[in-house]
Amino acid sequence: MKPIRFEAADTDDYTQIGEGLTRIARATGRLETGHDVGKYALRHDDGCAVCGTAVEAGDAFFLDPETGDLRCVDHGPAPPEQ
Ligand SMILES: [Zn+2]
Repeated sequence: MKPIRFEAADTDDYTQIGEGLTRIARATGRLETGHDVGKYALRHDDGCAVCGTAVEAGDAFFLDPETGDLRCVDHGPAPPEQ
């Protein structure tokens, strides 16, 4: 499964997601409900798993649905090491 791209983080730590993504968000331990940003929120306060770059409000980012890792735009589409 390819990393999922999010176009813009709502806040530095959370982004609202649709119901269709809640299964993956829950599986990766990132789902929070009843948060300020919306009914379902994806937590992304840990930054890129490869370079550690924090996701900030307005940033695009990726979530790897298999590992649960966050990725910045530089590391999202490709595996970290090849
Ligand atoms: Zn990165």
